[in-house]
Amino acid sequence: MRIYADNAATTKPSRAAIDAMLPFLEEEYGNPSSLYSLGQRAKEALERAREEVAAVIHANPKEIVFTSGGSEADNQAILSAAETGRKAGKRHIISTAFEHHAVLHTLSKLEKDGFDVTLLDVHENGVVRADELEAAIRGDTCLVTVMSANNEIGTIQPIRELGAICKERGVTFHTDAVQAVGHLPVDVDADNIDLLSASAHKFHGVKGTGFLYVRNGVRLSNLIEGGAQERGKRAGTENVPGIVAMAAALKESAGRMDKDAERMRVLRDRLIAGLREIPHSALNGDAAQRLPGNVNFCFEGIEGEALLLHLDDRGICASSGSACTSGSLDPSHVLLAIGRVHDVAHGSLRLSIGEDATEEEIDYIIRNVREVVEYLRGFSPVWRDLTAGKAQFIL
Ligand SMILES: *Cc1c(COP(=O)(O)O)cnc(C)c1O
Repeated sequence: MRIYADNAATTKPSRAAIDAMLPFLEEEYGNPSSLYSLGQRAKEALERAREEVAAVIHANPKEIVFTSGGSEADNQAILSAAETGRKAGKRHIISTAFEHHAVLHTLSKLEKDGFDVTLLDVHENGVVRADELEAAIRGDTCLVTVMSANNEIGTIQPIRELGAICKERGVTFHTDAVQAVGHLPVDVDADNIDLLSASAHKFHGVKGTGFLYVRNGVRLSNLIEGGAQERGKRAGTENVPGIVAMAAALKESAGRMDKDAERMRVLRDRLIAGLREIPHSALNGDAAQRLPGNVNFCFEGIEGEALLLHLDDRGICASSGSACTSGSLDPSHVLLAIGRVHDVAHGSLRLSIGEDATEEEIDYIIRNVREVVEYLRGFSPVWRDLTAGKAQFIL
């Protein structure tokens, strides 16, 4: 059996996305800026895609800027709002400790540049509190940026409430909605969102394409200088095949979202219940306020990397919070933000199931995670100390 349970990292491009993009690779390869009909047909496809994407999030097509993905959209949104703030003498930004690095690293850059950044607590359940945002807003706050749903632990944030507070206080509100768009309903007006980032490869589009929603009236500065594409806000010949695929993928995902979510929540909760039976384990993040496909656990006495490699041998693609494979021994900043200690955070496992997951697959995952955790604990010195009473169990 081969089970892909890493949909938070990327998703399989849908048939609809591939079918939509193929003509723009094979015949309709014109440059949308060219005046002859081959170019103009590409331009029309681009604008149709813009309308389709905008409709899904209840935006105006003029408010959509196509980007190379979620990271670029995050960078552009935050740097733009900071630039507007700087001009008004406002240099305070509010965010959270468990944002994606595309947000956190951009904020670090701004801090070095004289901005003051407040990171809200995300508490043990991985959810920010609206009253704490309210209290953190100052006269010089120019931006609040809070992700819609966390990519590691899947917790969904109270975006509508946070947006309402920002609107009332006249502060620009950005949300990294990369894990939400195509999976949860998003309405930029009802949710009071000024800037929103999304990425196609997280909802069955292709990699290297995304978009930034920019509310009419919110100023955007350029990351990339050059041509007049995207109304002068994002230079460079548009990725027409990728954008067309993104629109097709999003339309499809949005159309089946409710039904998919209902099914996935049942499977997710079955997986959570099965993994909870492993001794000295804990679910990370709120059990209810989480993405329909996200399961994230810590298992005491093991290393997440070893667990992943053994699961791979058994045909399961999953992910771990810590990043030893990328040369760093730091545990996940997300798990630390919800209060997990280093040792526990190292033994983490994220399973993000897809829309086509089956009960049989869930049971296969449960059985195999149980077996591998037990096997790894069998020769873990940390586990030996814990069971011998030389160290204290935390979970
Ligand atoms: C994947 C992801 C990103 C980055 O998107 P890319 O298109 O890969 O650049 C940003 N934020 C979140 C929450 C993500 O999950």
